[in-house]
Amino acid sequence: MKKSKIIEVKNISLNYHTMSGEIKALSKMTFDLYKNEFLTIVGPSGCGKSTMLSIIAGLTEKSGGEVLIPDSKSRDITELVGYMFQRDELFPWRTILENIFLGLETKHNLNEKTKSHAVNLMKKYGLWDFAKNYPNELSGGMRQKAALIRTLAIDPEILLLDEPFSALDYQTRLMISGEVHEIIRNENKTAILISHDVSEAINLSDRILIFSKRPSHVKRTLDIDENFLNIPISQKRKSPLFDEYFDTVWSELNE
Ligand code: ADP
Ligand code: MG
Repeated sequence: MKKSKIIEVKNISLNYHTMSGEIKALSKMTFDLYKNEFLTIVGPSGCGKSTMLSIIAGLTEKSGGEVLIPDSKSRDITELVGYMFQRDELFPWRTILENIFLGLETKHNLNEKTKSHAVNLMKKYGLWDFAKNYPNELSGGMRQKAALIRTLAIDPEILLLDEPFSALDYQTRLMISGEVHEIIRNENKTAILISHDVSEAINLSDRILIFSKRPSHVKRTLDIDENFLNIPISQKRKSPLFDEYFDTVWSELNE
């Protein structure tokens, strides 16, 4: 399969100006994102991972460099991406259905067509039975799934996932991360996931970027072997490649 670039991150730098001085978060950050890939970013805490996603989403102004969309003439980056955070950010006073419509409302794009797309996603991925429930009536995993469906409802090409599973307990995280991965695959989306969990990164990704300490840049790129990608998530740990990837990522992170 020929890989087509969907985003080019070129030489991005970002300096935060704070009361106690300047923080150089990113410097010479360069990488490409390919259509339909699942790319995971790992890196030391505070190195600038969330900052990088926020720049891609157009929410944070970069100090230098460019985020390019090679294939698009007219589309703005903000129309290309959907964001999902660690906290599900569902409104407690709205039902799951109302929460899922919220993303469309915010984009002023709630109509019969988009509503029916959202409802179909809910049906397809087991959320329809909870349509009239409130967020506090759902488990943490189901709430994250609802947050994902809300993001998918706006039909972004690229999903930006900033540690969406890290507030969940281990068991739930394993289950829901696999499910989210499958949904993203099924819907033909491209994803960038930030994770601090090395196993999760190995299990979910086509490619892993290891960010350096601040000022952060890509320290290493790890392409995941095609054969490994085809192993079901629950079986991946048994592969010798898992240990190899784990050692590589771990040593890069702790060097
Ligand atoms: P990560 O997601 O990798 O943990 P962040 O991108 O959140 O890291 O932050 C990178 C660095 O920039 C950290 O040192 C953080 O304290 C700092 N930082 C993040 N946001 C701001 C901000 N709005 N103002 C000042 N400093 C910030
Ligand atoms: Mg972060």
